[in-house]
Amino acid sequence: MLTSSLLEGLTISTRLNETEQSFTAVSTDTRTIVAGALFVPLKGERFNGHDYVDAAIKSGAQAALWEEGQPVPADLPDDFQLYVVKDTLFTLQEMASAYRVKINPKVIGITGSNGKTTTKDILASLLSLEGETYKTQGNYNNHIGLPLTILAMPSTCKYLILEMGMSGYGEIERLSEIAKPDLAIVTNIGESHMEQLGSRAGIAKAKMEIKEGLSPAGFLFIDSDEPLLDGWKQSSIIRVGFNHADILVENVAATVDGYRFDMEGHHFELSLLGKHNVKNAAYCIAVAHKFGLSTSKIQTGLRQISLTSMRLEKLTGSKGELIVNDAYNASPTSMIAAIDALKAIPSYEKRVVVLGDMFELGTEEEALHKSVAQVITPPITHVLTLGDRAKWIYEEASHISSSSTFDEIAHFTTKQELADHLSKLVDQKTVILFKASRGMKLEEVITAYQDKQ
Ligand code: ATP
Ligand code: MG
Repeated sequence: MLTSSLLEGLTISTRLNETEQSFTAVSTDTRTIVAGALFVPLKGERFNGHDYVDAAIKSGAQAALWEEGQPVPADLPDDFQLYVVKDTLFTLQEMASAYRVKINPKVIGITGSNGKTTTKDILASLLSLEGETYKTQGNYNNHIGLPLTILAMPSTCKYLILEMGMSGYGEIERLSEIAKPDLAIVTNIGESHMEQLGSRAGIAKAKMEIKEGLSPAGFLFIDSDEPLLDGWKQSSIIRVGFNHADILVENVAATVDGYRFDMEGHHFELSLLGKHNVKNAAYCIAVAHKFGLSTSKIQTGLRQISLTSMRLEKLTGSKGELIVNDAYNASPTSMIAAIDALKAIPSYEKRVVVLGDMFELGTEEEALHKSVAQVITPPITHVLTLGDRAKWIYEEASHISSSSTFDEIAHFTTKQELADHLSKLVDQKTVILFKASRGMKLEEVITAYQDKQ
């Protein structure tokens, strides 16, 4: 249960005589607050949550944290409790930490440049077969979302799966210290946040901060195929992957539906596209084995995965074509992985890649876009790009291919032109990948060309 005892040990001066209070929820957003909740006003760049306490009360909040020095409104209801603290965000995090200790589930922390949400979803479908599982909703993976996730876990929770995101040094360390994972995963090292961290080595270091909060008896699973992680050698670190691994994933083969592979002496089948998802699944199998799940339960769980949408999501278009919607986000690593996934799907004649801009790649953005062109090779037949940055992919792919390499290679400047073109191009024997950064909203092209058919 969420109670004011979670605030114990913090310096608090309250408005009323303190008695133990329990809360239905903890919320930072007055738009989603529920009756009986504790409202935590945060100060952002544009808004100050303290200005919205009236709205919180109207929605049924029964108490609020309050940052020292913020003016207290004169007309608060008598039974509305204020907990005055030095820093509301810090207190939110400390409450989460105390609640994690109180409920004491098995906690799994997941970070990495790509694949956090996917891995979280796969793991949830395995662990939920063994006990009540709660996981990060959507992308609530930062210094605010993670404590809110912890505080939202049911008191009967047995497994808590936490996605941890970051944009600079020190952030994963803090999240890990709040969450105190029993097991942790670093899915991969990519290029996102290059602007803040300078290099892929910097990114690796920042992700590996997850070790800081790891339970002393805990284990961290990392990517054995990433040379930048070679230097990390501790008994608590377990390498999982296709080469040089402690847990080796072998005999990987694409099937019509996804992949099959062997690991730890067992055979597994996965109905997800993309070889990188084999590795994401492998981390989850390793975690599930550590928690004692039987192999047959794990095999069942792998068949029941429900992924968050727009991540290599398979859809059937109106002409019977297979649409692979990976428009949720993109970095060079994940774009290359998605293109490889498209190449591996058996038995399609037309293989179309629709690629859009990738954002936040820093000063190397041109070279990073161009690097993607290296993997755009047959069996891909059509290369279509959209946006100023994706034009570099188009240019490089045109440059390194010959006139007979592809049936078509073209650049588009508007979504409408691209959609018009696609509506004429696709047929039943077509598979199309859509991939770009979130800001491109590339899924709008799918809707637009489907509407035309
Ligand atoms: P975000 O930082 O936006 O929360 P995320 O880490 O949660 O991203 P996902 O949403 O799971 O990542 O996947 C994003 C994309 O990354 C997928 O669509 C896929 O193309 C790619 N991807 C997933 N797993 C891996 C992996 N292990 N290695 C490389 N690329 C991957
Ligand atoms: Mg995510």
